[in-house]
Amino acid sequence: MTPTQQPRTYWLEHAWLGDRVEPGVVLVTEGERISAVRGDAPAPPPGAEILRGLTLPGLANAHSHAFHRALRGTVQVGSGTFWTWREVMYSFADKLTPETYHALARAVYAEMALAGITAVGEFHYVHHAPGGTPYADPNAMGEALIAAAADAGIRITLLDTAYLSSGFGQAPNSHQLRFSDGTAEAWAERCSVLKDRDHARIGAAIHSVRAVPADQLATVARWAEERRAPLHVHLSEQTAENDACREAHGCSPTRLLAEHGVLGPRTTGVHNTHLTDEDIALLGGSGTGTCMCPTTERDLADGIGPAAALQKAGSPLSLGSDSHAVIDLLEEARAMELNERLRTRTRGHWTAAALLRAASAGGHAALGWDGAGALEAGALADFTTIALDSVRTAGPLPRLGAETAVFAASAADVSHTVVGGRHVVRDGVHTLVPDVPRALADAVEALRG
Ligand SMILES: [Zn+2]
Repeated sequence: MTPTQQPRTYWLEHAWLGDRVEPGVVLVTEGERISAVRGDAPAPPPGAEILRGLTLPGLANAHSHAFHRALRGTVQVGSGTFWTWREVMYSFADKLTPETYHALARAVYAEMALAGITAVGEFHYVHHAPGGTPYADPNAMGEALIAAAADAGIRITLLDTAYLSSGFGQAPNSHQLRFSDGTAEAWAERCSVLKDRDHARIGAAIHSVRAVPADQLATVARWAEERRAPLHVHLSEQTAENDACREAHGCSPTRLLAEHGVLGPRTTGVHNTHLTDEDIALLGGSGTGTCMCPTTERDLADGIGPAAALQKAGSPLSLGSDSHAVIDLLEEARAMELNERLRTRTRGHWTAAALLRAASAGGHAALGWDGAGALEAGALADFTTIALDSVRTAGPLPRLGAETAVFAASAADVSHTVVGGRHVVRDGVHTLVPDVPRALADAVEALRG
């Protein structure tokens, strides 16, 4: 990230200040941080850049598999389950190289910037060449993703993922060989070489209790603990995982993680869909976060997770676009509320403000980006502006901008995205990747061919 060191002044027509929409706000950035936020500015000061609409803190996409973007459309033909979807997904994973993955991820992260996303959590498990042979640089794939985020102008937390088995007591299948380091020790050795940089943090992930044997869970947890790094894990997305875990270990996946030291405030369970009351208490009581991915969960026919109960029990919420059926954090936010409405036949489980916090501050916290997710002096200068005069958003009173953004706007209404003081999307145009649709089409075509 190479932010200008000159102070820059923005005039925000409306700004979301965490609990309210404020009209007429001056925001000053210096380097990669916000140096001042002042209200009561009905007109732009001389020289200020004008951001019309509602400016929000940057959105954090806490769960991504960048290559799943290549599945869009393709996986909507025919019927099946999560498990048949997974076969199509593996056919694309088989074809990735560091070069083709870099091209695809650069385009996908550019799509994210255009959707107001300023930080992504990349849950990364395609580590080695097909068959499992390491590349000359064993982290070539992870480095390709870190470079792709830099090229697209967004922050990344690379959640380097341990993936060692196909199921309880089963070796990786032919597709999964390239995901595996063999042992958790070998995984730790490889990812210890990866280093944080200005736009990138290194975190850890356990793919799932299916993919990391119980006696190796603690190795991954310890690696994250020693570095105070985020640790993510796919948790109880499917009932088949729960059934197999009970058969192998006589307990739920959540209980298994708890017994091996995986749960805690720097850990995030992704999906947390099919949980018992005891699981919810374990996750909430340990402060373990919950990342909901509602557009993927409905796309894959997973079910609806107990997000409201988890939050009430003490689990902080974040949101992710996961398989990228769509990339739209506003849609993820409203889907979490609307799922709960369908399930309970009552309305108003979260306010728009609470949903925006999950889409921003909650996601940044889950990804280890402290100091992002608020428009305040000292915070990272990561913010995004939603047009309030589009065909979707025109009409409501501006003071209802948060409600309008969450319940009516889409990624198409994002007009500006600033990351670390750098204006990455201006007037709906990406300033670093000239033709994002073309970049996406070319990158997907390269994998299809
Ligand atoms: Zn996932």
